[in-house]
Amino acid sequence: MRIARFSIDGNVAFGAVEGDKQDELVLDIIKGIPFAEFELSGTKVPLSKVRLLPPVLPSKVVAFGRNYADHAAEMGSRAAEDPFAFFKPSTSVIGSGDVIQYPSFTEELHHEAELAVVIGRMCREVPRERVKDVILGYTCANDVTARDVQRREQQWARAKGFDSSCPLGPWIETDVDPADLTVQCTVNGQQRQLGSTAQMVNPVEDLIVNISAAMTLLPGDVILTGTPAGVGPLQDGDEVAVTIEGIGTLTNKVVKRG
Ligand code: MG
Repeated sequence: MRIARFSIDGNVAFGAVEGDKQDELVLDIIKGIPFAEFELSGTKVPLSKVRLLPPVLPSKVVAFGRNYADHAAEMGSRAAEDPFAFFKPSTSVIGSGDVIQYPSFTEELHHEAELAVVIGRMCREVPRERVKDVILGYTCANDVTARDVQRREQQWARAKGFDSSCPLGPWIETDVDPADLTVQCTVNGQQRQLGSTAQMVNPVEDLIVNISAAMTLLPGDVILTGTPAGVGPLQDGDEVAVTIEGIGTLTNKVVKRG
């Protein structure tokens, strides 16, 4: 099931996305929230008539770094054999179609296409065999990074945590195996990144075991799983799209305020 969060007539709701063609998609409005037992209302609205929102409002986004060897190499580094994580704040999250605001304090804004895991239930110290039980589904993410600031500052709160630095969406896919999915990033239609989740040094199970050993994960929390090679600059006016096989496409425009 594809679960979108959206607003219509000033109300916010979740809906199950139905249909195959992009311009004919319909939302069946969910009664309740997708983090508990829920029913479809049968009330349907065309996706084109609503505003898509970020599919969740996470209490935290935990992002793993250097989880693809080819990306670590292009950064002049090596893949992290032991996973390491950093935070992106809740205020960094935007949805598909929202604007990435080019910050005033950087001159080198980069895209990073990533598979995002959406947590479905409160959990901690999750054993490997229970990881599937705590995941609601998967969505596309862009770990937008001020690369020059990242190089300059030891902590990445500004470089990777500024407002709009965490596009998520367009929706959550609950029925997909994350083991071998194509991850692609285009800028203005030109391919920049192309990889597979099969290239992850530490797969999704390892990342959930690692982070849940340290902290409680709440429903709606999001785990970013690292980016494949090909990261590169974004300019004012660019349209950046992250597509993950079996999930969908997350699209955002970059705007620099004069
Ligand atoms: Mg990243």
